[in-house]
Amino acid sequence: MLKFTMSIICAVVLMSISAAIALANDSSDDDGGYIRLINHSNHLPSGYTPDDLVRLSSGGVPVSSTAVMLRATAAEAYFEMMRAMQADGVRVPIAVSGYRSYARQTELFNNRVQRHRNEGLNAADAAALAATVVARPGTSEHQSGLAIDISMDGSLTAAFANTQQGRWLYENAWRFGFILRYPYGTTHITGIIYEPWHFRYVGLPHSRIIFENGWVLEEYIEFIMYGTFFSDVSASDWFLDDITKITGLGIMYGVSSDRFAPNAAISVDEFIGILNNLPGDGSASGIRTYLTNSGYLTREGVAMLLFEYAQLNFIELQRWRIFQHFAPFTDQADISPYAAHAVFAMRSAGIMQGRPDGRFDPVHNVTRAEVATVLSTFIRIMKSSD
Ligand SMILES: [Zn+2]
Repeated sequence: MLKFTMSIICAVVLMSISAAIALANDSSDDDGGYIRLINHSNHLPSGYTPDDLVRLSSGGVPVSSTAVMLRATAAEAYFEMMRAMQADGVRVPIAVSGYRSYARQTELFNNRVQRHRNEGLNAADAAALAATVVARPGTSEHQSGLAIDISMDGSLTAAFANTQQGRWLYENAWRFGFILRYPYGTTHITGIIYEPWHFRYVGLPHSRIIFENGWVLEEYIEFIMYGTFFSDVSASDWFLDDITKITGLGIMYGVSSDRFAPNAAISVDEFIGILNNLPGDGSASGIRTYLTNSGYLTREGVAMLLFEYAQLNFIELQRWRIFQHFAPFTDQADISPYAAHAVFAMRSAGIMQGRPDGRFDPVHNVTRAEVATVLSTFIRIMKSSD
């Protein structure tokens, strides 16, 4: 799936670095500001109002009110998306909430604070409690005019994910430049609950890269800002995507500023350090293995350590493939008895595979590129299970 993505990522990253740096600058909107990150720690200024807002009712799509607006480019993309949905035989849903002014956010927030004050809380406690339900002014993506809440009946609930419309949007929104902004299992990154109804316009190709990598916007911005290109990793290498992703997320680093050393071996200690960089609250500190920490890590060693990490941190590995029949590796007998279960678990979760010739090659030193690939898959599975 990602094979052809990388050339685009390279192009996008090069052209987006200036855009990403501009994200830090409130006044800069030269690139349209479509990938601007807005969250609890990246506020929009109180004076920010988009100057190209369009009423969605003007495009003939169902709306809950004529006040529902998006910025022009996002609105055009929304109209196109709804036409495509209709063409696929899916009834078009209702656009419930788009642009929301700073003043309106303040009003909603203050109403909520007042309600808690009336219940007897002091100002600070009332504000803190309100913030768990209503975005603090300036932290709502809706102020950008790039976010839209979509519903079948006007209500915003998780049930939308299981509607025909919710599923269609989940699969197809990226084609029109939209992303599902707060996917399931990403609250630890976004700070926002799962919202299957809230879509954010970022534009192509950003939406495609984000969707294909299973990222949230925070991860994509981090990738753009900190992703590194290495002189010893080329566009034709099978591991390019994974190395770019893993270094972009700060999980692994190059051996120098411009070299990754993809074919170099890695020590057990180094690998345990890398596990501590995985996203989420997991820790590798409790890992105990039969491995000698100073030695180079083997392929079966990777399986053991990852398996222990998953168990220690209550990460559920996908199990559906366990019911598939796997032919034993042709060198199955070479796998250490204490590693056999972990190797099986990693194989059935789709995290580690054998060589094309059917061997697992258990005691071969793992390469840094292989580690990047294995962790890239592992992260995807972590996300879908938490
Ligand atoms: Zn929303």
